[in-house]
Amino acid sequence: SIGTRVAVVTGSNKGIGYAAVMELCAKFDGTVYLTSRDETRGRKAVEELEKLGLHPAYHQLDIDDESSVLKLRDFLVDTHGGLDVLINNAAIMFPMTTPAEKFVESIRKTIDTNFYHTMRVCKILFPILRPHARVVHLTSDDGHLMKISGREPEASVLRKRFSDPDLTEQELCQLMEEFIEAAKNGDYFERGWPNSVDEREDTWPNEGYIVSKVGISALTRIHQRQFDQDPREDLTVNCVHPGYVITDATYQKGEKTIQEGAEAACWLAMQPLSSSSNDVPKGSYVWHDKQIVDW
Ligand code: NDP
Repeated sequence: SIGTRVAVVTGSNKGIGYAAVMELCAKFDGTVYLTSRDETRGRKAVEELEKLGLHPAYHQLDIDDESSVLKLRDFLVDTHGGLDVLINNAAIMFPMTTPAEKFVESIRKTIDTNFYHTMRVCKILFPILRPHARVVHLTSDDGHLMKISGREPEASVLRKRFSDPDLTEQELCQLMEEFIEAAKNGDYFERGWPNSVDEREDTWPNEGYIVSKVGISALTRIHQRQFDQDPREDLTVNCVHPGYVITDATYQKGEKTIQEGAEAACWLAMQPLSSSSNDVPKGSYVWHDKQIVDW
């Protein structure tokens, strides 16, 4: 079926990713891949959608496993000749109540999966994107630049580095490594990194999640700059805060249904082809109400 449009949603066996597959199955003109790291959980999710009369395709994808990403890429090339929509939804979070002895490990794991491995998915899949491809990264309100809120003036120096319009991937990775190092040393607040443990509910994600999502928001801007230089026409990437959504990640405590949480991501994923008369969001930080928010 070379020629049909193709969409992939990472981590879509449950939560917002699952709802994104649901919405794309109903509205996207093409094949939609539900993917999961665990094949049994993924196939079960596909069955549930089949019962609703929806027909997602399925492929295994564990973003922590490079060979899994490479397999998906080769499969997409062989089966479809390319990729048109990529929603980077998969992420993990450790709560504020993570025991002290697990803190550093939780930081490393969160930055790895949410930041580095999402970046690697992009490195591997961007080369097979077709013209007019739409990429969406799930960020968070925790991914807002102002969440880098440690001691001043160190925090503003960090924010300036994150928001540098010429920031490179290498410099962004360097920032992530500095945070991990500071987390190990225990002086991350003094170095400007967030430490909001007193302000938040204990089931909310810890600092590793905040920094990983700020990283994703910054990466979005770098990716769009790469797309703007790309010979393929009209590639866009945006990041989206889905709202506070009732999922396992929020201990089922959110305010929005998963369907509501997937709305803005799907809206970005299905933006019409761009033309001079019809400008589409690009490189933006987008809120669940579809408004572009100043980062
Ligand atoms: P869930 O925890 O409900 O779902 C996360 C999904 O990601 C699961 O399918 C999980 O698979 C998958 N996943 C985790 N690690 C990997 C991996 N290594 N490879 C592939 N898939 C993986 O989270 P939500 O639906 O709540 O969150 C979805 C996105 O939205 C995340 O990026 C999150 O940060 C963001 N977000 C969510 C908010 C909310 O209020 N819920 C608020 C702001 C942002 P498995 O079932 O195997 O664990």
